[in-house]
Amino acid sequence: MAGGADKVDYVFKVVLIGDSAVGKSQILARFARNEFSLDSKATIGVEFQTRTLVIDHKSVKAQIWDTAGQERYRAVTSAYYRGALGALLVYDITKRQSFDHIPRWLEELRGHADKNIVIMLVGNKSDLEEERAVSTEDAKEFAEKENLFFLETSALQATNVENAFQTVLTEIFKIHS
Ligand code: GDP
Ligand code: MG
Repeated sequence: MAGGADKVDYVFKVVLIGDSAVGKSQILARFARNEFSLDSKATIGVEFQTRTLVIDHKSVKAQIWDTAGQERYRAVTSAYYRGALGALLVYDITKRQSFDHIPRWLEELRGHADKNIVIMLVGNKSDLEEERAVSTEDAKEFAEKENLFFLETSALQATNVENAFQTVLTEIFKIHS
């Protein structure tokens, strides 16, 4: 963009939620820096990372918030949700419990966030097909019932991570531009 490299038309806050160890931080690392680490430690102190994309000829800065080990029930503060226009609600396809906790996370999210928040249900670690504990059909059915977008991702293989954020950001753009 000649003469306008720093021009940002929109800033959209998106939050990552879901149980500990489902891969939230690695999904963010993949999206923001195209990095992945197999022994990721909880990042303390970093509230969010950003990446700027072009949507419909406008510069959109995505500000993606990641929890820093606050994933216990009700430990995520309302400041985390404040102003969020989108959310990735993440479970691990190999951990049934992380999927069973999704309704709780959804309830907490809906209790705190914007009325029009765009929510994507994300089944991460799709590379571990042989350890799958949550069927795609079950998740799809839940997503349809709750009016959520749904994708299975692999932060490790970079599958659908871009797609998940693009979908959420494009939908936010449609609502707020
Ligand atoms: P968080 O607690 O939700 O932020 O989870 P992390 O991003 O720290 O990931 C937890 C563990 O799962 C780490 O060992 C990651 O390397 C691993 N992990 C994250 N995403 C994937 C994935 O897509 N596939 C596989 N196989 N492992 C993953
Ligand atoms: Mg994390």
